[in-house]
This record gives sequence, structure tokens and C-alpha cells, in this order.
Amino acid sequence: MNNIYWIGPRQSDIDNTNFKFAGSITIYGSNINGNTAYCSIANKRINHNVDNDDCNRFFSEKLKEICHNDPKSQFLFYNFSYAYEFDDEIQKHVIGLNPYNIIDMLADKIRCRTILNNIVETVPFITLKGSECSFSNLCKYFCGYTEFVIQKKHSSGGEGTYIINSNSDVIKLNAFDEYMISPYIKDSISLNVHIAIINNKTIVFPPSIQIITEQDGRLLYHGADFICYQQISEKIKNEIKNLSTKIGDFVCKRGYKGVLGIDFLLNNGTIYFMEINPRFQASSQLVNRGLLESNQSSLFEIHLQSFDLFPIRAISDFDVLYSNYVFSTNNITKTRLKKIINSYEIEKFQADGYDIDCITPFEKNSYLCRCIFKQSICCININNKFTLHPNLFVEKIAYNLFNKLNNKKEYIKFALLNHGVTLTKAALTYSRKQGTIREAVFDAIDITIFNNISVNVPIKCKFVSFSPFTIDFIDNEYTLYWDDIRICTVSISFLPNNLINKKTLSGVPYDSIINLANDRIRINPAPICVYKLENESCQFCNLPTINDKYNINDIYEVIDYCLEYVDFRHFLIGGGTYSKDGGWNIILNITKYIRSKCNKDIYLMSIPPKELSILDKLKDAGITEVAFNLEMFDRNLAQNIMPGKGCIGLNQYLLAFRHSIKLWGNTGCVRSLLIYGFDTDDTFLSGIEQLCQLGVEPIISIFRPLENTELSYLNPPPTSDILKIYQKCQDIVQKHNLILGPDCPQCQNNTLSYTKIF
Ligand code: SF4
Repeated sequence: MNNIYWIGPRQSDIDNTNFKFAGSITIYGSNINGNTAYCSIANKRINHNVDNDDCNRFFSEKLKEICHNDPKSQFLFYNFSYAYEFDDEIQKHVIGLNPYNIIDMLADKIRCRTILNNIVETVPFITLKGSECSFSNLCKYFCGYTEFVIQKKHSSGGEGTYIINSNSDVIKLNAFDEYMISPYIKDSISLNVHIAIINNKTIVFPPSIQIITEQDGRLLYHGADFICYQQISEKIKNEIKNLSTKIGDFVCKRGYKGVLGIDFLLNNGTIYFMEINPRFQASSQLVNRGLLESNQSSLFEIHLQSFDLFPIRAISDFDVLYSNYVFSTNNITKTRLKKIINSYEIEKFQADGYDIDCITPFEKNSYLCRCIFKQSICCININNKFTLHPNLFVEKIAYNLFNKLNNKKEYIKFALLNHGVTLTKAALTYSRKQGTIREAVFDAIDITIFNNISVNVPIKCKFVSFSPFTIDFIDNEYTLYWDDIRICTVSISFLPNNLINKKTLSGVPYDSIINLANDRIRINPAPICVYKLENESCQFCNLPTINDKYNINDIYEVIDYCLEYVDFRHFLIGGGTYSKDGGWNIILNITKYIRSKCNKDIYLMSIPPKELSILDKLKDAGITEVAFNLEMFDRNLAQNIMPGKGCIGLNQYLLAFRHSIKLWGNTGCVRSLLIYGFDTDDTFLSGIEQLCQLGVEPIISIFRPLENTELSYLNPPPTSDILKIYQKCQDIVQKHNLILGPDCPQCQNNTLSYTKIF
């Protein structure tokens, strides 16, 4: 067999396969294991989506060298069009190459979409000369749209694809070139599928969701997620398969053979065809991995099988259980890359010759390296928003935090809540000497930043190892960093020594009954929430399903001990529902007991009572504040996500709120918590408004997909959305002379609220 060489952008494109290449000539690569890479030799990182004469010359020279040294050598190109840019001497060695006219037609975005428009639904588009692409002109063509996508007829990776809106800077378009313009359909999901035309048949491989980020007015490709694609409905999946087959059959009739990629856009249940990539793709290596693991031929071999260069092997169904993310010079800093390079959450790191310790000159938007994950990095959240995990791409939010928002303390707090933090070895070592870090609720620890802002910051959640936040221990103090930007000193909360391993006389660990959070002791009236016991748990809740049994006397004993030996300001009764009717007797007994011993505030967080007279009894017993948490305002959604608690109707809440306001007033002692990340933004904001109109103080917590919960596969909302919703909610509460609760600054540790303390 002749030696086959891989000619493509990255050496890592041929990882994950047992196809034997004699070597590879690539733009990025290690220069070892038979690889010769332009960037490693030139000692710079270029943007491979921009034409580069020097790099083209390099390829020409290297390919000719191989032709001379190994006359029987054969070249398999990643990008089939690129093969046609070389002279005959090289082209004679190229294998798996379709005729120029068909490749040219498919690679031309305008021609391809125009032709396929007749057989599949495409995003509406027009073609205009560059000189005609003014914003006002585009508005005339697409009524009702205010943003547009302008594409060159040949481009990839997002280069040559621009977003234009009323605020856009003037894009440098060539006045006489033809461009394709479509309305920018926001909140769409970009889908990609590999197909192969082999023996006049179309084979459709597992599709993926493409990770496209909007940066500087361009839509840039940053990876693929095959696992997240599983979240798409079966109906859409079948449709994608049918459309891909239809397109495959069409190109087959035009004489195309082998592998190609198709991009679709999914918006509100409609699938639009976008473009064809007549080449291998950046995600091909993940498909290859699925093929390898199912003991099948690689995409390279399948492509060559279609040219009768290898015997055809049947392809059976297989899964691709991977995602990947591409790091380029515009989406990661060196400091963060150094932090994540050894992350336990990365399945494989692909450096492609990038040496993080070297100072390598680079062009804007140059490819650096990429990571493969064995878990999804994106998800389609409950509110149908496609969300990349916020810790993967943080550069935009960094700019917002440190430039636009001028390092405002509350925004740093909110970002911490969402991104989590890691502790350096030095910080961990010192903290262990100091005591037992108080592990608060929700896989988090309690810290204080800027001297007085309490934050319940996640340390265990998904992709926390990618968090831009780090706590280090330097010069005898804990310090919080965002990458290498020093933010402030930090104090970490430790469990008081007298509570460590403390048990009641009957042998129940104190931490089964209570939880100490800053200046508050939470008493769990029920060892296990009734909804957990009855298999109707809220899907986001990680409270235990197994716990030590205890009774009211154990609770009294713990209360007595805490009052005598623990420093705290107030009580919270909550953390699980005792029984479906509320368990009011036990709550009343606990309240009366506390009140008989002290005057500390007692905050009740529970389901709303059906009987409003219960509220009078609670008030009489000594409850000083109440919260009946709706969690989400859309009650249909509530029933899906909280099959037990979500069945409590909105009316029961509203009646309880109204009566509570009569008892505790409308100045913030009656509250309800909404979780941001489930309702649509409109529903969420209208929920906040309605609560305020009643005089109920809204509390906002950010959805945190916790380990071992049914929703652990989801992602937290984007931090930028959180900052925006906070501002909008602030406007609403201020209008009603309320604040985003709770009032107690220490208890704001895991909420979207901020009290300025001087
Ligand atoms: S009511 Fe829901 S969130 Fe609260 S403890 Fe029970 S299951 Fe968890």
C-alpha cells in the first residue's frame, strides 16, 4: 500500500483513529510523529481561516518534497477545495478528490444555498454587492429584523461572517464583491452533521450541536457537542436525518463521493439548511472516535472507500459521547489556559504544537489548542435557551466585569456564585491547618469578599476546574483572583470546633438537624423532605434522601446547645418539607421552644399553608419573617420540575402572601424565592413584578445544576444574562420601595442581592 499523508489544519485531526497515515503536513502540529507543521517551524500562530501566502508556499514546498522523496506517496486533504490550489505535480498525488466543479459549487455558500433552496427550507437570504450592504438598506429587505448576517461566498470558522446591526462599526466589505445576507435569527441552535456518499447511498453519522460564539460582530466556531445533541427531540432528530439524506442524495446525483458536512439552524422547531462543507470538519475527530470505539472504519477510510481505494465495510449505528472546545487567542488567556490544562474534567488536551510556556507571536483569532470532554459542555436549558457552560468562555464577561462595570463588588459576587472557585494548593494546605472549612449548602463554601460580602461559592460543580476565579494563599492571607487579576482578600468560614462531629445524646449528628450558615442556624424540622420520601423530589434539589432519624427532643437539645455555645444571630426553620400538609405542629413547637428561650429572630421558609389561620398561629408563636418559595412562576413548568411541591397552585401562594402581609407587613418580612434559569425572562420579570405588587420581597437565586440531581446535565445561565436580569429586577423592586431579598446581608450569600455596608 502507498504511503498516505494527511494534509490539513491540525495534527490532532488524525488523533482518535486507527487509520495509518505515513505523516502529516499541517498548519498546527507538534513537528513530531511524522508531522511537519507550519506554525511550529515559523514559530507563530496564524489564523488559518485567513489566506496566508507564506503558509501556502510552505505547504507547496513540503508536498513537493514528499513527492520527490516518495514518488508513490498519496495525499488526503482535510479541505478538498484546497487541493485544487496546488499544481499538477502535487495534484497527481491527491486521493479522494471530487471533481472541481462540484466542490466549487458546494463550497460557494451563495450558489449552494440558492440551489438547495429548491429542495430544503433555507434561512431567507438575498445577495447584494458590498456597496449595497448598509444597515438601512438591509432593513428594507427584511422587515421586522434589526440584525443581519453577512457572509462572503467562501469562508470558514466564522471569518468572513459578520453580524450587522444599528450599532455595528462599518464592516470593510469589498464594494464589488457579492455577499449573502440573511436575517440574524437569534436564540437558534446550530447543528452539524457528517454524511458520506458511498456506493450511491447516503450514510448519515451522529450529528452534533455546534458551539458558535458572537465576538466583535462575528460568529466564530468554537467546538462541537455530540452529547448535548441527545437533548433534541426525536422528531427533530428524524427530520435532520431525513434532510441530510435528501441533501446527500442530491449531491450524489451531481457526482459527489465521500464525506462532507452539513450545517443546519434550528429555531422554534423549524430546521433551516445553512451550508455544505465539502471537506472533513473540525468535529470529524470526534466522529472518528465513535467509529473507533465501535470497531469501525474511520471517516478517512470511509471517504476513500467511496473512491474504491479501500474495500467497503458496512457501517452500523454508533454513538459519539464526546464534546470538544477550541481555544483561540480571542477566547482564553494564558493564565487560565495554564490553570485548566491539567483539569481532571478534560478527557484529552490537544496542544497541536502550542507551547504555553513559550512566547509565540500570534494573529488575532488564531487557533491555540483544544480539549475533548466526556461530558456535554452545552445544554438546552429548561427555558429552551442554548447555553454553553459559563466557565468555558469567560472573556466577554471579564471585559464586562473589569472594564464596563468597573469592578463593581456586587457583580463580582454574582460572577462568583455562577462560576465557582478553585483553591490553590497553598490555600488548601493552609485552610486545612486552620480547621474544617464549613461546607455550606449546594456543594459550596462560604467566603467573605471585600471584607463584608458573604458569598456561597461553589467548589464542586461541573467545570469548576475551569473557573476564572482562584483563591490563593499569599503573604499570610487568602486572595481572590480572576485569572491573574487580583480582586481582594478573602476570608473563609470554618466550622466552629465545638460543632465538628458533635452528636446529640441519642447519637444524631448535629449536622443532620442543623446547618450553620454565617450568622444563621437553619433547623430542618424533617430529617428527609416528604417529597423526597414520596419520590416527588424537586429535580434541582440535592438534599439527602437518607438521613439519621431524629425527633423533637433532639431538635430541642441542639437548639439549647447552640444558644449556649454557638455565636449566631438568628434562626431559620426550613430545608425540606415535613409533610404535605405542612407539618405545622412541629414547626409551631420548634418556634415556641425557641421563643421560650430567646428573642432571636425566627425566619420560616416553608410551603404556604392552606389554612390561613396557621399563619396567625405562627405569628403568635414567634415567627418574625416568612418565605413561601415559588421557585418558578410558570406553574406548568413548576409541576414538571417539582412534581411534588410544584402541584401547589399559585392561588394558595397568593392567598398566603396576602394574609402574611397583613401579619408581618409589606416591608420585606414576607418573601418568595424565584430561581433564575427556568422561567423565560419575560415570565421571570412578570413574577418579580407581581410579587412586588403584593408587597412580597422577591429573592432570586441562580439555578445551580448540582451533582446527583436530575438536572445535573444542565448548565447554569450565562453570567451576562444574570447581570442583565439583576439590573431589570432591581428597577422593579426599587419602583415598589422594596429590595431584592433577603434583608440580612449575611443571608444574601447565595442570592442575587447586594446590600452596601459602609
Ligand atoms: S421541597 Fe423540593 S427543594 Fe425543598 S427539600 Fe423538598 S425536594 Fe428539596
